[in-house]
Amino acid sequence: LAGVLALAGCGGGGAGSAGGDTKASGDKGDLLIGVSMPTQTSERWIADGTAVQEGLEKAGYQVELQYAGDDIPTQGQQIDQMITKGADLLVIAAIDGTALSSQLDAAAAAKIPVISYDRLIRDSENVDFYVTFDNYKVGVQQATSLLVGLGVLDQDGKDTGEKGPFNIELFAGSLDDNNAHFFWQGAMDTLQPYIDEGVLTVPSGQTDIEQAAILRWQQETAQKRMEDLLTSTYGGGTKLDGVLSPYDGISRGIITALQGTGGLGATIADGLPIVTGQDAEIGSISLIDQGVQFSSIFKDTRKLAEQSVVVAEDMLEGEEPEANDTETYDNGVKVVPSYLLQSDIVYKDNITSLLVDSGYWTQAEVDAGV
Ligand code: BGC
Repeated sequence: LAGVLALAGCGGGGAGSAGGDTKASGDKGDLLIGVSMPTQTSERWIADGTAVQEGLEKAGYQVELQYAGDDIPTQGQQIDQMITKGADLLVIAAIDGTALSSQLDAAAAAKIPVISYDRLIRDSENVDFYVTFDNYKVGVQQATSLLVGLGVLDQDGKDTGEKGPFNIELFAGSLDDNNAHFFWQGAMDTLQPYIDEGVLTVPSGQTDIEQAAILRWQQETAQKRMEDLLTSTYGGGTKLDGVLSPYDGISRGIITALQGTGGLGATIADGLPIVTGQDAEIGSISLIDQGVQFSSIFKDTRKLAEQSVVVAEDMLEGEEPEANDTETYDNGVKVVPSYLLQSDIVYKDNITSLLVDSGYWTQAEVDAGV
């Protein structure tokens, strides 16, 4: 492709806010976009990768899509290779938001614009745009759904007057993912008044994000932490009422621990604690449908992919992409202009309207859980 790029006259460089020449739209098919995704172990990233690739190809670009198996050096190497191949723009969902500085320096030197996808890349000047969801609000929604499950709020978010007290435990995502901090902040700002009032108690005392965090968002790690909490804190008959979980994979690990070690019943109706989630993964949607997991957060990855294609096109055509937030996402070096999408809470009774009617999952998939 280097020859093609030389033909296009950009010397490996794209346009957009990283500066440089603009290619005529007729040259689109000569432009290569590198898409770097973190892992295939979670289905949302597979859906994201596929949707971004399809959207960009439909718009006429060449695409190289890579998954890094949640391994930081692999992601660095894959991005290095995309740059060497002459990528004109990069779309990156980072594993560790702080680990890509050298790749971003190389991209900037070659005038390749970089879109940070879903997760903010930190500590670098060379991030041109951020497409994501309102991550603080996702955390608020997670905590809200926990309060709904406990009966403290109704589904419209209104206080029911129920004062508990309820025992809860808290889980957070991977600390190297900037989003984990936003989810946690949104959730804790929502739960704290109820903790202060005595409606909620965290019997383990583990209320710091460092104590609650699950490295790489792994299901097995979450299961182990839940098992440890059950042994250390709930052995003497203390009742656990709810668990704040930031991601469906983590939720399923927690549920396995609760159903196994905890012997707490198979469904919520049997006494299984309320467990929240995120991503509307089919395994969890099916569990919500069966009354096992209580809630999830639906972030429509099709819309995120679509938005990233719009931003990529603007940048490659030398136009300023539209941002709807220019204040929130400080990556440690600069505030990155962002486009934030909105998310929805999934409960058993809106699976059909949110997920099936929109074509995200079919009813058959919900029934089968795969
Ligand atoms: C994403 C979440 C996802 C998590 C684990 C976060 O950065 O925003 O949607 O649940 O990573 O993959």
